[in-house]
Amino acid sequence: MLPATSPLLRRVLTVVSCLSLICASHAVEIPTQPPAKPLPGVQHVLLVGIDAFGAYSWEKADIPNIKALASRGALSLRARSVSPSVSAPNWGSHLMGAGPETHGRISNAKESALPPYTLSKYGRFPGIYGLIRDAYPQARTGLFYDWERIHDLVEDKAVSFAKEFKHAPFSKDTKPHEKVDAYEKSTAEVAEAAVEYIAQKKPFFTFVYFSAVDETGHILGHDTPHYYATLQKVDAHVGSLIGALRQAGIEQETVIILIADHGGYKKGHNEARLVVYQTPWIIAGPGVKRGHNIESNVVHFDTAATVAHILGLQIPQVWRGRPITEAFVVSGK
Ligand SMILES: [Zn+2]
Repeated sequence: MLPATSPLLRRVLTVVSCLSLICASHAVEIPTQPPAKPLPGVQHVLLVGIDAFGAYSWEKADIPNIKALASRGALSLRARSVSPSVSAPNWGSHLMGAGPETHGRISNAKESALPPYTLSKYGRFPGIYGLIRDAYPQARTGLFYDWERIHDLVEDKAVSFAKEFKHAPFSKDTKPHEKVDAYEKSTAEVAEAAVEYIAQKKPFFTFVYFSAVDETGHILGHDTPHYYATLQKVDAHVGSLIGALRQAGIEQETVIILIADHGGYKKGHNEARLVVYQTPWIIAGPGVKRGHNIESNVVHFDTAATVAHILGLQIPQVWRGRPITEAFVVSGK
């Protein structure tokens, strides 16, 4: 034991006391991040993804729910796919705010062809689900899809509830129309589950992904009566999702964004043509201009940035997307 008057003890006490003062003043000086806050009037975001919904189809398509959504919101028919114009790179860009060269998904392969530039604490490239979880720890977030790869494109640990649907297995005798029916069925199951979840749980953020239009394009061809028939069925699902928001009493406080990953040509979407690279990009809800034609350049990585803008989230430096502020009544925040 050192006596209370010991010079050594006095020196130790002085150092401790200085350190606590430094700590105390340091704690005061740390800039505190204000809590995230959505744009006025917004309490929910619903993101709807239709695989291979090409902008080229807009005029011919019988899609009353989607067109009504566009007319009460803002629309671009010139949004562009990132390259390559295939699904995982583009859904990845929509959800992760960066291009394939950065998030690493440059093909539809299960594993990233390139390592992601960085990883979030959820173990994947920083995406919209992680940003939401960090800023709103209690937020309920949903994910519904019928293409297994979607799961690999999100920070699954940051998602509250995810549900995948699969079509019945095919044999060598399965006919093309039977395959189309099977994909339409799994897409209908996605819609049904998402409708139930939205109506009951009123999630803060939900991404609902439909595969069927892409499959019909691959099996029977783009810009064919079959393609438009599947698109019409998916439009009915969009109507059901909007109905679920109404049933939950949250339609007026929900921003809906409707997106696609690419269009198509003949039975594919690899060619460098605008019918492949241009997709519709629709946003509607509180704070969004009504009946507005978006002139800003929209690239698919802008979707995540726009969701971040709506929910008051800070966009990570590693993203390349920018919010489409032109679509909002008050563009600054
Ligand atoms: Zn696709």
